Amino acid sequence: MVETMEAIRHYTAYRTRPLTDEQRRTITILFGGLTWKHERLIQGVLHNLNYNAEPLPNITREDLDAGKELIDVGACCPTIFTTGNLVTYLKKKAQVEGRDYVANNYAFVTAGACGPCRFGQYHESYTMALNGLGLQDFRLFLLSQNKLDQGDNGGGLNFSLPFSMGVVWAILCADILTDMEYLTRPYEVIPGQTDQVMQESIEYLYEVFRNRPIRGKKWGNLAWHLTTSYFTEALKEVKKKWDAVEVDRLQVKAKVKITGEFWLQTHEGDGNYNIKRWLEHEGAEVIPPPVAVWLDYLLHSKLFDLENRKEFEKRPGVKMALIKALARLYRRTYDGLRKALNFVPYALPDQFELRQLADPYYHYRLRGGEGHMLVGKALYAYRHKRAHMICELSPYSCMPNTMSIGAMAKVLGQYPDLLYAPIEVKGDAEVHALSRCQMILTEAKQRAQMEFDEVLDRNKLTVEKLRDLEAKQPALRRATFRVPHYGYAGTAVNYALYLATR
Ligand code: SF4
Repeated sequence: MVETMEAIRHYTAYRTRPLTDEQRRTITILFGGLTWKHERLIQGVLHNLNYNAEPLPNITREDLDAGKELIDVGACCPTIFTTGNLVTYLKKKAQVEGRDYVANNYAFVTAGACGPCRFGQYHESYTMALNGLGLQDFRLFLLSQNKLDQGDNGGGLNFSLPFSMGVVWAILCADILTDMEYLTRPYEVIPGQTDQVMQESIEYLYEVFRNRPIRGKKWGNLAWHLTTSYFTEALKEVKKKWDAVEVDRLQVKAKVKITGEFWLQTHEGDGNYNIKRWLEHEGAEVIPPPVAVWLDYLLHSKLFDLENRKEFEKRPGVKMALIKALARLYRRTYDGLRKALNFVPYALPDQFELRQLADPYYHYRLRGGEGHMLVGKALYAYRHKRAHMICELSPYSCMPNTMSIGAMAKVLGQYPDLLYAPIEVKGDAEVHALSRCQMILTEAKQRAQMEFDEVLDRNKLTVEKLRDLEAKQPALRRATFRVPHYGYAGTAVNYALYLATR
């Protein structure tokens, strides 16, 4: 009897080709996925640690086509865009420098995850695309999102605390400046000045991160970041640049809060039809989503997990107290950075409140995508009167996001007054998506105007009278003046009430 034995090939998870110490210093690290501002500051952190580092170019439609060609058809839109972005870049490099050179001298670093969304499988799409390009040996490094010290990682890059802390602080500073940008640009008196000051501020901060002193390798480094005034002093310098920007806040604009899937809501470019700029162009003020909220969510997820399995943990009370203390420190740090800019950038929403608001509609233990936060943030903006409208960006073929949108149907049943524009983004249906958004925006603009007119009527105010009051205090027209919130969504109406009380 002849027995045939077929070789069984078991699945093995992706493993990076190791790097030697020498290669580590010469290789160029590629990264992307955030805004140009976040990426430039992260580049400063990597240069500070003596790595060569380059962010990938901003994503374009060309990347969507490149991604579609090389990965499976059911992939979600952010996976296609980001894979295509890497592919397009490497293809161009390989044409100039040769495939072997590219495979040996560049490496791509991205965040890794697991769970019910594709994020945990991004590297599979990347490897599939790299195989298609003949770049099987190209190195991909996956960073865990919930470990600050990832050490040497078995012959890989050395992602220790000075790296992680630098990246977190870079993200916080970029978030805070992004808030400044979106609070200022719709009202700027000199067109283009906000973008110019933003560019200058980021370049200034790039140097700050590049020259960051490294104090200690572990806990000393953490302690230094939490106690130093190095970053707040730098932001005070940045504030001087924003002081020079004149704004006219008596223009009535609809305020639009952006929510949705993490990558799509953070992105600024073709990947989401450039929707934030488009909204501004259509007469809106946009509330951008800070990455800092996501980091806060990760921190609180640990806490919520501990709550659920108290009986299986040793000293759960101590662990929970520690995480709560860390969460307070995190918030205090963020507020310290905001303070350097006169508290103009938005405060972080309370994670307990987001969870409680979302609770009747979406359980916080359902992970994937933004989890319960998509529902929580929409209700937070609505209940606190922070926005006239929610623009929610859903990626084509995203399972967690589809669940959140399903939950939003129930929210809308109970809050029919909530203006909600869910936009499906698949990269090549721009006109359809924007026209749907425009329908809701028209109503949001009417609400903003009605709110403004009613308040002026009730307080016997006119725009002329407000302009006279404003003329007596020119400092109020600075971008760095903080408009108090009097319980109305619009900037113009809150500003008018402030002027009336002076
Ligand atoms: S949340 Fe959705 S869009 Fe984002 S990576 Fe996961 S599956 Fe893709």
